[in-house]
Amino acid sequence: MDKDLLWSNILDKIKTELNSLAYQTWFSETELYKLDGGVAKIIVPYAIHKQHIINNYKDLLNKCFLEQTNMNYELELLLKEDIVEEQPQIIETFKTEETNETYHISSNLLPKYTFENFVVGNSNRFAHAAALAVAEDPGRIYNPLFIYGNSGLGKTHLMHAIGNYIVKNSNKKVLYITSEQFVNDFVSMNRKDDSGTNFNYVEFFKHKYRNIDVLIIDDIQYLGGATETQKEFFHTFNTLYEGNKQIIISSDSSPDDLKKLEDRLRTRFGWGLAVDIFPPDLELRAAIIKKKIVGEDISKPIPEEVIEYMAATISGNIRNLEGALTRLVAYSATWGSDITLPLAQEALKDYANKGLISEKNDVAKIQKVVADYFQISIDDLRGKKRSSNISFPRQIAMYLCRKLTDESFPKIGIEFGGKDHTTVMHSCDKIEKEIKNNKELAKTIDKLQKEIH
Ligand code: ADP
Ligand code: MG
Repeated sequence: MDKDLLWSNILDKIKTELNSLAYQTWFSETELYKLDGGVAKIIVPYAIHKQHIINNYKDLLNKCFLEQTNMNYELELLLKEDIVEEQPQIIETFKTEETNETYHISSNLLPKYTFENFVVGNSNRFAHAAALAVAEDPGRIYNPLFIYGNSGLGKTHLMHAIGNYIVKNSNKKVLYITSEQFVNDFVSMNRKDDSGTNFNYVEFFKHKYRNIDVLIIDDIQYLGGATETQKEFFHTFNTLYEGNKQIIISSDSSPDDLKKLEDRLRTRFGWGLAVDIFPPDLELRAAIIKKKIVGEDISKPIPEEVIEYMAATISGNIRNLEGALTRLVAYSATWGSDITLPLAQEALKDYANKGLISEKNDVAKIQKVVADYFQISIDDLRGKKRSSNISFPRQIAMYLCRKLTDESFPKIGIEFGGKDHTTVMHSCDKIEKEIKNNKELAKTIDKLQKEIH
């Protein structure tokens, strides 16, 4: 249910329980800000409301939430000021020349995504290091920084973290946008103005995108086939780049794989540094769950075995992990029970049913596909022979295992003749780099990948 609708239903109910003066005084100016990790955050007009509502109407509110949502929420009462830090910062005020209207341009940065709450593991270590380097010295080291990887692995989080870091440590102007927003702005710029206003969209657009120090553009794959937009982005890119302004781009695939983009854009994306984020391994998944438990102020203790269970069953994607945790907390609140392993198994059963627990592309399958393709035996592929007709396919297979499964580097090492995890990392890096310069290899990998899926 939409939160405003939910709140209006609850207020209706409260109205019937209170006399009208009490209702007017304590509830008429309230608002449901959001439901977040089992907590209902309610905005009240004055500090006095916080205590009074909790002291007098807590049970009533709990009852209403339960009736409406079938869930128990903890209540948190806030003043509007308490949440300003969640509002993105305004970087610029733009006045139209003729009509003198004022427009605010926001950085769109979300303060909740920072380096401090980004957990680093093998699968994102390189991306994290590159992001931090760029945050510390924007426009100088890697320009553009191109971050790619599947959905839910932390690209958006890292990009906001860079932006927030820069804003905090310098007076540079940072603009975060998704590529859809860029397209929308571009479309408005070209809109014929028939409403009679003299708003100058072209001026506004140029001002917004070229008058900044850092441009963060998320999910560039959605810049799509609209070639006019691509042209405009190309010009924006060039202007910023030539002015040594930092550009940070994310995408679901590597620059070379962005088929819908013009060559000249793809080439430019490769000028700086491209880093990819892999799916988190078991260790990182557990570490992220622990971090979220602290970060989201989950007050109920969650036993280690539950964390292990979640990390082991919910793989692939960090967004799913967060969803599972929220569900677990809400579930235990609903039943008023402690969080235990059987409760977690029950609560997360639906996750398995909905297919949110990722299917594994197992290592054995990848080994078979690669061995067949190169016409070598699986035993050789898994063994210790070092001749190049075997070691090269082995490196490819290890790379594919890391990319397509949730197995950690050490675990993959075990599957390939007991190799050390640094050897596996080295092989993955090597293949990764080679793909960029060797079109044949890129094609082969692509083919293998299709066969594995
Ligand atoms: P993407 O943009 O790659 O689809 P997001 O950045 O939106 O992924 O991440 C999805 C969710 O997972 C976000 O809530 C984010 O905070 C969280 N997340 C991703 N990676 C990490 C990490 N390494 N540490 C903590 N949280 C993470
Ligand atoms: Mg994203």
